[in-house]
Amino acid sequence: MNALAATNRNFKLAARLLGLDSKLEKSLLIPFREIKVECTIPKDDGTLASFVGFRVQHDNARGPMKGGIRYHPEVDPDEVNALAQLMTWKTAVANIPYGGAKGGIGCDPGKLSISELERLTRVFTQKIHDLIGVHTDVPAPDMGTNAQTMAWILDEYSKFHGYSPAIVTGKPVDLGGSLGREAATGRGVLYATESLLQEYGKSISDQRFVIQGFGNVGSWAAKLISENGGKIVAVSDITGAIKNSKGLDVPKLLKHSKEQRGIKGFDGGDPIDPKSILVEDCDVLIPAALGGVINRENANEIKAKFIIEAANHPTDPEADEILEKKGVVILPDIFANSGGVTVSYFEWVQNIQGFMWEEEKVNNELKTYMTKGFKDVKEMCKTHNCDLRMGAFTLGVNRVARATVLRGWEA
Ligand code: GLU
Repeated sequence: MNALAATNRNFKLAARLLGLDSKLEKSLLIPFREIKVECTIPKDDGTLASFVGFRVQHDNARGPMKGGIRYHPEVDPDEVNALAQLMTWKTAVANIPYGGAKGGIGCDPGKLSISELERLTRVFTQKIHDLIGVHTDVPAPDMGTNAQTMAWILDEYSKFHGYSPAIVTGKPVDLGGSLGREAATGRGVLYATESLLQEYGKSISDQRFVIQGFGNVGSWAAKLISENGGKIVAVSDITGAIKNSKGLDVPKLLKHSKEQRGIKGFDGGDPIDPKSILVEDCDVLIPAALGGVINRENANEIKAKFIIEAANHPTDPEADEILEKKGVVILPDIFANSGGVTVSYFEWVQNIQGFMWEEEKVNNELKTYMTKGFKDVKEMCKTHNCDLRMGAFTLGVNRVARATVLRGWEA
């Protein structure tokens, strides 16, 4: 099932559980605005290259729209739409005063030089600068983008609107980025996992973890989980996959991956087929890469008892049904990976106040938000007698619906 169909389906199930009026349901589903722009740049060799850039602004009932910008060959309008919608529910679940948006450029960032990436980012910013803003839509990093990308957006946007550090989050600390933002999604995954395991009388230190993806989110999650005593028994990235049933030496693996630009060739474990990573034997599976990876093809083979969705929409609805029957507990993306956007909110608050926080304060506040978020999700599970995904969806959708009704429709 495509990402948008899957996201719409989950939204509609939640709307039904909440008994939402069908007209309100329709208005919540349709995006506020969809932007599609041509981005043509001169390559380093002088030839031209054209790309398509998207920004989907899904909903702003609860505040400025918020979400990352992704550079990936598979970026397409449906996927960006789905991801923008997920951001609306995610910010509502986290209870931060934002709506949802997402952007992307269909490109392979690994095949572009730094100066080509800079030109592409600046052209994209020129095309959308009038439609984003500190109090309308605030971009952040996502797959294939990072703090440097945000610095270029900040600089280009500031040429049109004056110096505006709060226009993006996830920027370098030297430009007003928040301490702790880079680790935030992974750290949020740690706190979310702790809350879930506690419910089942378990803890990080007695569980074996498999992590798919060793980018920003997967590598920080691996580092923090292993520091808390969890055993990481297998990981994968685009270069390969590695397994060690005694537990991988994560600091060594991080060093290797940084130096070699990937985990391939790491000698602290046995190489395995990256395709089999999701069905490796473990207690907790953490997909931290692309969407749609857990589907009807592999759901039956999954050995984990818990799945923590560090990626956005990693689980197809068909797989959801299969896994539910198997008794696998899934902690959904819109809660599990909300640590990133939560610390983005802290960064924006710091920029607006012109007062920077210590890292300890950032991490403590994040823990408070994640712990409260888990409690709120559980409460909705009880109220609607549903699983954690529907608990999170009903929580998010209900908050957005209430804000929408309160603001009214007067033209
Ligand atoms: N791209 C991240 C996400 O999917 C972070 C978004 C943000 O910080 O605005 O949640």
